Amino acid sequence: MKIVFHEDFFKTYSFDPAASKGRLDHAAALLTNHYPVVTPYLASEKQIKIIHTDSHVQEIQNSSQIYHMARLAAGSAIKAADLAYSGTAAFSLARPPGHHAGPSTYWGFCYFNNIAIAVKQLILEEKINSAVIVDFDLHLGDGTIDSFADTPEVHYYHLENGIDLIGLNNGNKDFRNHPVTQLREYLKKFYNIPEDTPDILAVSAGFDRHIHDWGGSLDTKEYQEIGEELGKFAKEQCQGKIFSVLEGGYNPESLGESALAFCQGIEKGVN
Ligand SMILES: [Zn+2]
Repeated sequence: MKIVFHEDFFKTYSFDPAASKGRLDHAAALLTNHYPVVTPYLASEKQIKIIHTDSHVQEIQNSSQIYHMARLAAGSAIKAADLAYSGTAAFSLARPPGHHAGPSTYWGFCYFNNIAIAVKQLILEEKINSAVIVDFDLHLGDGTIDSFADTPEVHYYHLENGIDLIGLNNGNKDFRNHPVTQLREYLKKFYNIPEDTPDILAVSAGFDRHIHDWGGSLDTKEYQEIGEELGKFAKEQCQGKIFSVLEGGYNPESLGESALAFCQGIEKGVN
């Protein structure tokens, strides 16, 4: 496991919760203490435009600070995808997040769709033909869905739970659909359809579902189980090719702990 990280990700670049001061401190301390760190490069404008329209990019360029951070986050995802392609699991600890950014739209603290750019880059380089993107953030990755609307080779799965579906957030576990079991069921279908076997597993890792975060539903151990499940799938179906990019997660403490638990789960799964 390698962590893709840049000191600039500590910088506050906006007034939203994803950009808040200190958000990544605990996660960075824990992850960089456990795993080797790889420094990313800025994504080029050309790379950003494999997903986003000219006018979208122009709009983000209006703020040089946000443009810099968003390019670096996209470059970080590209680096993580490259590492995964060469056989090393990687986690991009970056911000701003990306899964709400579509080809010409953005909201929800996202500017460029980091994971979409990284997956598309591998496809354009003809390193992969297909991918599965698993998104376990509290929120649906609408930007990712829009980015691959015409690309059936890229599957998108969002981990949903009963609490959100019925609009309740009372923490009553009886309402839950056992997310890990659900994820396992989803991944199982690939085992029976060899022609659908993905070349890489990409993960939109948002930790805002944590019991001490906005979603209030998953505990740290469940993030470890999700990591292990995904690592195992990558090992058995994608020659161990797996990378993850940070999306949400707004409680610095639980974000750090669950990101580490998740990475440890992946390691257990792929080895
Ligand atoms: Zn979220």
